[in-house]
Amino acid sequence: MSSIAERLDAIRATIPSGVRLLAISKYYPCEAVMEAYNAGQRDFGENKAQDLVAKQQALPTDIRWHFTGHLQSNKIKYIAPFVYMIHSIDSMQLLREIDKHGAKNNRTIPCLLQIHIAQEETKFGFTPEECLAMLATEEWKELKNIHIRGLMCMASNTDDLQQVATEFKAVRVLFDEIRDRWFAGDKEFDTLSAGMSGDYLTAIEAGSTCVRIGSSIFEDEI
Ligand SMILES: *Cc1c(COP(=O)(O)O)cnc(C)c1O
Repeated sequence: MSSIAERLDAIRATIPSGVRLLAISKYYPCEAVMEAYNAGQRDFGENKAQDLVAKQQALPTDIRWHFTGHLQSNKIKYIAPFVYMIHSIDSMQLLREIDKHGAKNNRTIPCLLQIHIAQEETKFGFTPEECLAMLATEEWKELKNIHIRGLMCMASNTDDLQQVATEFKAVRVLFDEIRDRWFAGDKEFDTLSAGMSGDYLTAIEAGSTCVRIGSSIFEDEI
């Protein structure tokens, strides 16, 4: 048996400074979030807009709420007032919609472009080619109420860590290429969100700057 606080400590000990630990609380109640909060955790992520809103309303105001799931346009309005970062931009259309809601709320919303790198068909995101083509239009430069801060990816769901490492490294190369080409003057293009409970050490080795960990924090291994 171990507690959330103990598991958080154990995970923190494996994460270098400069890599952000995001606790993915999507399957866990507010009480569990509070346990992590009381152990010093401040960054949390959810996959559903309703859950993000419900938890944000119920929990301390200094929590940084990240959105990591597939975002439907009609849900943006609920999270736009407070979301700290949206990790899952998968179309130019979505970016435009978020920009509108940023303007309505008088703020700039930090966003990551989700890259589809995994072998599974089911994952969302731009392919690297689509992402480069989208950036090349430079249309995003006109959107003043979003700020592209980096990339996000999910590796293939496989035990083959070699495959996973290859995917994470490819996204790191893409991240560097995009930064050099379009964000060279922007120190805030600094986030590569990659790595979950099963593969975060591989992701950090490949150059992740933000790991998204759920089950390893919130579930006791039996
Ligand atoms: C659920 C989820 C995570 C966390 O997964 P664990 O395996 O529980 O650590 C990370 N990122 C995204 C996008 C998720 O949906």
